[in-house]
Amino acid sequence: MALYKDGNELTHTESEDFDKVHSPGDSAPFSGIYLCINCRDEYAYNAGDPLPPQNHRQHSANKGAIRWRLLVKTQRGPN
Ligand SMILES: [Zn+2]
Repeated sequence: MALYKDGNELTHTESEDFDKVHSPGDSAPFSGIYLCINCRDEYAYNAGDPLPPQNHRQHSANKGAIRWRLLVKTQRGPN
């Protein structure tokens, strides 16, 4: 589970961007941290980078398919 220290720097949202589930090889739609909903691994990706394929670490068959979901989305500053 991702960690943070200063919750004042994070904003809760109900955006549907966080509900979509992506397959290995799909381009990351946003820069941020993605969670595999089956094995709970978390990785940071830049928008447009391919999400990792089936050879990402320690994904045994009993954990099911790799399915990435956006966990934390980065945003640019107001300037
Ligand atoms: Zn996984």
